[in-house]
Amino acid sequence: MNFNSHADVVVAVAVDLVNALTDGARRGCPYVVPAGEERRAAVREALRGREVTDTEADELAEVAAELRTVFTSVAAGDVDAAAERVNRMLRDYAARPRLARHDGEPWHLHFHGEDGTLAQDWAASCATGLAVVIGGGQHNRLGVCTAPVCDRVYVDVSRNGTRRFCSTACQNRVKAAAFRARAVR
Ligand SMILES: [Zn+2]
Repeated sequence: MNFNSHADVVVAVAVDLVNALTDGARRGCPYVVPAGEERRAAVREALRGREVTDTEADELAEVAAELRTVFTSVAAGDVDAAAERVNRMLRDYAARPRLARHDGEPWHLHFHGEDGTLAQDWAASCATGLAVVIGGGQHNRLGVCTAPVCDRVYVDVSRNGTRRFCSTACQNRVKAAAFRARAVR
């Protein structure tokens, strides 16, 4: 599965931001967003090594909450709501394509303007990535983990598009539970 190389990256970042910065459940346990350095480290990982301040992490947490609703709307079968949310984010975060060349890289496409904050830029980029997915008829590639006690999100980049879990950990939990259920019968 390859939507467009940069779109693929920002969709993966959207998934990681949602999973790092929204409360809920993860792999069978409650998940509470950590604070301070631990939260900054989680964001740094989601942003592929980019350092952030606590204020930027606060702003990104708001962005993550908006991004989560795109995944939950798709999972609930409400693609219209997901599309409307993406459109609102594209507008609010001033998403606009622009070719940039910096740090010795060749010309490449940025999905945000030149004067946004770090959180606005990532919000514009993640929203554009999700717009590419939904606009390409691939909304069913966006999902929320179907394992019990887990609501982490994922993007399904498998060839056949049958992914249902956030991780192999959750897949194995569900498999083990099914095995136990058969064993007690
Ligand atoms: Zn899961």
